[in-house]
Amino acid sequence: MPYGYHQKILHVYLADLRLEIETPPESFYRKYVGGSALGLYYLLKHTPAGADPLGPENTLILALSVLTGASISGQSRITAVAKSPLTNVVGDSQAGGFFPAELKFAGYDALVIHGKAQEPVYLWIRDGEAELRPASHLWGKTTAEVDDILYEELGDKRIQVLQTGIAGENQVRYAALINMANRANGRTGMGAVMGSKNLKAIAVRGRQRPPMADGKGLNNLARWGASEFPDSDVYGLGMLGTAEVLEYQNKSGGLPTHNWASGAFEGWKAIDGKTMARTILKERDSCYACTVRCKRVVEVTSGPYRVDPRYGGPEYETLATFGSYCGIDDLQAIAYANQLCGAYGLDTISCGASIAWAMDCFERGLITRAECDGLELHFGNAPAMVQLVEQIAHRTGFGDVLAEGSARAARIIGKGTEQELITVKNQEAPAHMPQVKRSLGLIYAVNPFGADHQSSEHDPSYGDYPERMAQIGLTDPQPDQVLNREKVRFALVTQYLYSALDTYDLCQFVFGPAWHLYGPEQMAQAVHLITGWEASVEDLLRIGERRLNLLRAFNAREGIGRAGDKLPAKFFKALKGGASDGITLSEQEIETAKDLYYEMAGWDPETGYPSRQKLEELDLAWVADELYGAQA
Ligand code: SF4
Repeated sequence: MPYGYHQKILHVYLADLRLEIETPPESFYRKYVGGSALGLYYLLKHTPAGADPLGPENTLILALSVLTGASISGQSRITAVAKSPLTNVVGDSQAGGFFPAELKFAGYDALVIHGKAQEPVYLWIRDGEAELRPASHLWGKTTAEVDDILYEELGDKRIQVLQTGIAGENQVRYAALINMANRANGRTGMGAVMGSKNLKAIAVRGRQRPPMADGKGLNNLARWGASEFPDSDVYGLGMLGTAEVLEYQNKSGGLPTHNWASGAFEGWKAIDGKTMARTILKERDSCYACTVRCKRVVEVTSGPYRVDPRYGGPEYETLATFGSYCGIDDLQAIAYANQLCGAYGLDTISCGASIAWAMDCFERGLITRAECDGLELHFGNAPAMVQLVEQIAHRTGFGDVLAEGSARAARIIGKGTEQELITVKNQEAPAHMPQVKRSLGLIYAVNPFGADHQSSEHDPSYGDYPERMAQIGLTDPQPDQVLNREKVRFALVTQYLYSALDTYDLCQFVFGPAWHLYGPEQMAQAVHLITGWEASVEDLLRIGERRLNLLRAFNAREGIGRAGDKLPAKFFKALKGGASDGITLSEQEIETAKDLYYEMAGWDPETGYPSRQKLEELDLAWVADELYGAQA
């Protein structure tokens, strides 16, 4: 009997509205586990090299893991995988909420979505029964409106809905998938992929909870975690949300400001976690069964920016991209922009960063008023920022250009605007600066789906959490601003661990080494208690390494390797002001770090592709055959 999972994958063939259930063997689950790795297996099998990301040959996979739905904090997450319309290489994004656990209870471990429907449809799954239904009446509606219509239509307010929004319908390249109207698979444009398939929403409900191998042991671990919470490092996050880190980021010179010209924002205090808690916070919210409750719910009832609590509240990244990136210190305007992104289904990072890039270009005279619909696009102009979010989602006026993402927008506009980009593989960088956390420079460059802040541990953790780092073999802490051999090893090993988190679909705030309620050893313990499988920290790292190699292999098949692992020119300019005044990255240190990284990862240093030997070592000979041809 499988513990923790159903052994059921639902294939959805949209072209002929057909559904098929696959029942893979236990060996498949032991090897690919769930989340990102399981999704990548199907992506490599079903999406041909060179596929148009917005064409019917792209495959969208929504995958849970063998741990999803268990009664412990941090397990209700879902991974979306497809070829990305933003990066044109692999796309990969995670979200929490109640939808992931409910999909498990509805009877499936993953959904593999093929082709394109002729007319809009939605998928309804209840206790293992699945059907496709017409969805033209949901098209053009906000996410909360769609939720309300489906509650009514399906006669149950306890259903959970994951959907693409108006931005996804319009194929904005960084459109998100949204559940609960406020949780996002935000990065890499997965909402645009779902929109391109005419699949508007997925509604789920069920009571099919898979048994746990040792439910009593799991309950003991969960109870222990809940009792530790008030004294844990994650307690502040529970109280102030991710906005807690904004103050620290500014103090250390790592809060991206004015499109990354500086790492210090003079208006930081007006938009930080404490100010939010004192002014617009209505309540804290949670994902299914989580003790931490780090999600924000904000409300604004008067003034130009009225915010409905249904749309949650801004995370740190959102406060930074719509705030400090754009030089905006109006918390209500930022909360309103966050609401628009939830209502229309937009990634707040790429959206805010693309607007900040346009503001920077406007300030430099590279974009004229005529080109941006007469807007005075100066830093600090909150009404212009809010107007552009509307225009991007609906692809009107200048918003149609920014809906392509800033890298493509720079190619459309020209005039040297590419010099102000902060993109890697066309994806806008999140709000953590590699100038002050050096290993992030390397990870931003080499990460297969573009610059990402949740793909490895950040530099300060090496010295701050020696006990947890020792659990993954890291015992030689290095200063934040060096990128030597040991720091490269830190980046790669923690990347394996984060890669395992995204494969087990676990929340980094609960199971990640820095924030954690549970450390890597307890993560292995949870895997054992839920599935009954033997699991060690080494096993977790191996599973993470396998997923990272699958990601790289997808890109290699597209011909993207070392040459694509490139940081933007702006990262090599000295920062101005604050604690990071004058600090810069050097191209040479990044290239040297890449050499070390590829060598440690077992990849070809010339191409950056996973070697046949490494793929075979990870039991991925079929992937090696895809890349290098079958061996005689
Ligand atoms: S820590 Fe926050 S994001 Fe993570 S599972 Fe809990 S409530 Fe969700």
